[in-house]
Amino acid sequence: MSMSDHQNRFAVDRVLKFGGTSVGTPVRIKSVIEIIKKAYADSPHIAVTVSAFGGITDRLIALGKIASRGKDDYQNELAEVIECHKISANTLIPQERLLEALKTLDQTLSELRKVLEGVSLIKELSPKTLDLLMSFGERLSAFIIVEAILPDISQARFLDARDLIKTDRTFGKARVDFKETNKNILKYFYDFPGVLPIITGFIGSSKENETTTLGRGGSDYTAAIIGAALNVNVIEIWTDVNGVMTADPRKEPCAFSIPEMSYKEAMEMSYFGAKVIHPPTIVPALEKNIPLLIKNSFSPEVSGTWIGTVSSKSESLICGISTIDDVVLLCLQGTGIVGVCGMAKRLFGALAEKGINIILISQGSSEHSICLAVSPSFADIAKEAIESEFALEMQANIIDEVAIEQNLSVVAVVGENMRGAPGIAGKLFGALGKNGINVIAIIQGSSELNITVVVKKEDGVKAVRVVHEAFFLSPRKNLNVFLVGVGLIGSTLLKKLESHAQILHDEYSLDIRVIGLANSRAMTFDPQGIKLKEWSAILGRASEKMDVKVFIERMMHLNLINTVFVDCTSDQDVSDAYEAILQARIPIVTPNKKANSGRYENYEKLKRVTTKNGTKFLYGSNVGAGLPIISTINELVRSGDKILKVEAILSGTLSYLFNSFTEGKVFSEEVREAQMKGYTEPDPRDDLNGMDVARKLLILARESDYPLEMDDIVIQRILPENCFNASSVDDFYVKLKSHDEQLAVKRREVQKEGKVLRFIAKFEKGQGDVSLQAVGPEHPFYNLSGTDNIIAITSEFYRENPLIIKGQGAGAEVTAGKVLTDIIRLGLDHIS
Ligand code: ASP
Ligand code: MG
Repeated sequence: MSMSDHQNRFAVDRVLKFGGTSVGTPVRIKSVIEIIKKAYADSPHIAVTVSAFGGITDRLIALGKIASRGKDDYQNELAEVIECHKISANTLIPQERLLEALKTLDQTLSELRKVLEGVSLIKELSPKTLDLLMSFGERLSAFIIVEAILPDISQARFLDARDLIKTDRTFGKARVDFKETNKNILKYFYDFPGVLPIITGFIGSSKENETTTLGRGGSDYTAAIIGAALNVNVIEIWTDVNGVMTADPRKEPCAFSIPEMSYKEAMEMSYFGAKVIHPPTIVPALEKNIPLLIKNSFSPEVSGTWIGTVSSKSESLICGISTIDDVVLLCLQGTGIVGVCGMAKRLFGALAEKGINIILISQGSSEHSICLAVSPSFADIAKEAIESEFALEMQANIIDEVAIEQNLSVVAVVGENMRGAPGIAGKLFGALGKNGINVIAIIQGSSELNITVVVKKEDGVKAVRVVHEAFFLSPRKNLNVFLVGVGLIGSTLLKKLESHAQILHDEYSLDIRVIGLANSRAMTFDPQGIKLKEWSAILGRASEKMDVKVFIERMMHLNLINTVFVDCTSDQDVSDAYEAILQARIPIVTPNKKANSGRYENYEKLKRVTTKNGTKFLYGSNVGAGLPIISTINELVRSGDKILKVEAILSGTLSYLFNSFTEGKVFSEEVREAQMKGYTEPDPRDDLNGMDVARKLLILARESDYPLEMDDIVIQRILPENCFNASSVDDFYVKLKSHDEQLAVKRREVQKEGKVLRFIAKFEKGQGDVSLQAVGPEHPFYNLSGTDNIIAITSEFYRENPLIIKGQGAGAEVTAGKVLTDIIRLGLDHIS
C-alpha cells in the first residue's frame, strides 16, 4: 500500500507516544505540547498516546493496597494524587476552558474516590478492581493534555482506549483481541477524519466492558497496536533518554545511543533490563514492518534510535549491553538428574505453577545440575516449590537441597552481528578476566543474539564498564592508579603523569587518573581522580593515617576498572601485600626490589600467581633504572637461550664514585660530594655496603632461571667493618676518612697497571659475587662515566661476544620514566 493510499484511507502516518516522565510535571507537559504542535504542523496526520503522569500508576496501586486494609488512611495520599492533577490542570488549561474542564475532572476524580471507598469497604483489591483503579492515571493525563492543547490544535480529541482496544479478562496483563480492536480503530479513524486523538495508553476493556490493562509499561504497546492497525509509517516512543543506549548510562558514562537496530536486538536488549521499550510493543510493529523511533522528549533535537529490520550498523561486534541488577541463582543438582528424562519439565512446571518468572537457565552437558536465575522476591518461593516437587528424590539422597546464591547481577551482550562471528566470547571473558571479575554462570542462546554472564552484584557495574570498553571504541580509556610512596621517584612520577596527560589523552586515548595516594604518614582517595597539580597539598591535608592494609582494602572495595597498583616505596610491608593484590587481578608496577629479592619461594609464588591469573607484575625499574635489562633477559630466556654468565655494574652510585675517584681525589670527599648531589641514599652506607647491588644481581639471576637465594651471593666489602658500624652518618665520615689513605694506595697500584677500580656484580654457574675489581682497557667496563650502569650477558646465543647494555643507571627521572612506561604498557594492553 502506498503512502498516499493509506493517508487517504485513514489519514494517520505517525503515532507519538509520551511516557510518564515526559508528562511528569506541568513544565514537562508544556514541552510535550510543543513537540506535538511541531509534529502536527509538519503533517496533521498524527495520533498521540500518553501514559499516566510520572509515578501516578505506582501511587494508585499503593492507594488501592492501603484502602484494602479497610481503614481510612488512604485519604492523605488520595488528596495528594488529586492535588497533583489539579495543579497540572490549573497551570495548563487556559482560563476560558478551565471551569468546564475542572467540572469534568471532578467527575472523574469522584469516580476514583468511589472506587477506593468500595475497596475499603469490602477490604479487597481484586486484579479487576486494580485495573480499574490504575486506568484513572491515563484517563486523567490524557484529558488534561487534550484540554491544554485545544487552544493550539482545535482538532484535538480525548480518546479513551477502552472504546477501541478489546481484550480478554486477564486483568493486570490482558491479551488483545486484535480482530475486534483493529476493526474499532479503523472505524474510529474512518468516522472522525482529521481529528488529532490524544489516546489513553495502557488500558483496554473486555467484551463485558470491564476495564483491563495491558501490563505495566503498556502505553508503548497501545501506541504500537494503534500504529499497526493504521499501518502508519513510524511509531515514535518519546521517553527521557536519547534512545536505546549501548549500556545504562548511570553505570557507564561513555554509553551512547544506538542509531539503528533491529527488532530482535531491541527485544533482546529490553528483556535484559534496558527499560527503553516495553517488549510486547515490538510485536505489532514487527508484524507490519513499521519502524519504531525512540526519542527523548527532554532533548527533541537528538536523533534517537531507529528500530527496524536492519541490525545495528556499528563497527563493533555487539549492539549493546544490558543488565539485570539483582538476581538469585538456584541450582538443582545431584546424580538423580543425570540422564533422566522429564526433570526439566518437572522443575519448570513446579515454578510455573507458582507463577515464577525464570530469567535464565543453564545446564551443563554433564547434566549434573540445572541452574536458573529468578528475581530475589521469588527466591524463597522458588526454592520451596522445587524442593516440594523433588521431595522424594531428596529423601533418597539422589538430589541435593536446592543451592541458592544471592546478590548476583546479569550482564548480557546483545547484537545480531555476533552471529557466526568467532572470538566474541573470548573478548568478553578476556576483558572480564583481566579485571578480576569472576563469572559465575554463562549462557549463550543458539540464536547467538546474546551472551549472558552472571557475576557478583558488587562486580555488576564494573563488568558493564569493562565490557563496554572492550567492545565499543569509546573515546576514553581510563587507567585508575593507586600510588604508594611519594619520595623522589613517586613525586617525579606524579609530575610526569601530569605533564604527559595531554599527550596520552590525544595520542593514545589514555587517561591515567590517580585515585589513591599515600606516603608513610597519610593516605587519600578520590574516585574522580586526584588533581595532580595539587597532589602535595591534598596529601598534606589528608587526615587518614596510612595503613597499607586499609589502603589496599579501599582500592579493592572501589572495584574500579583497569586498576593499577604502583609501589614507589622500598618497604617490605608494601611488597608483602603483592600476592593478595595480584590474586585480585590488579596489576602492579614497581621499582621496589623487596619482593623479588626476598626468599626465592616468595619470588616464585608471585610468578605463579601472575601466570595463573594473567595479571601483570611489572618491575623493569628494579635493575638499571630505565635500562632495558630485565626485559632483555626475559626475551632471551623466552626465545630458548640459556644465560651462562652475567657481569654488571648495577649501582649508579658506586659507578659514579669510582668513575670520579681519579688522580689526586680523596675517597671520603667523593662520597660527600655524591651525597650532596643526591646520588646516594640518605645514608651512603646503604650504597657502599653492596647490599643494593647484591639484590639486583639476585633478581637478574632469578630472571635468568637460576633459583638463587641471597646467601648464595658473596659480598666483598669495600670498606672495613668499623665504617659500617659507625653510630651515625657523621661518625661514618670520620671513620671513612681514616680509611682514605688505604684506598688511595690501592687506586695508585691499580693505576700503575693501567687499570681502574670497578664495583662488579657477577654470577656464573649458580654462584654470585659482588666485589671491587681492577679492570684494564680491554674490559668493557673500563670506559664508564657518570652514573653509568653496564651489563654484559654471556649466553648460548651470545657466547663469543657478550650482549652489552649500557647507559645512565640511576636517577629519579629515568626510574620514574620506566615506571610510567610500564603503566602505559598496561593501559595499552587493556585497550587491545
Ligand atoms: N502508566 C502505566 C505504568 O506505569 C503504563 C505506562 O506508563 O506505559 O505502567
Ligand atoms: Mg643508590
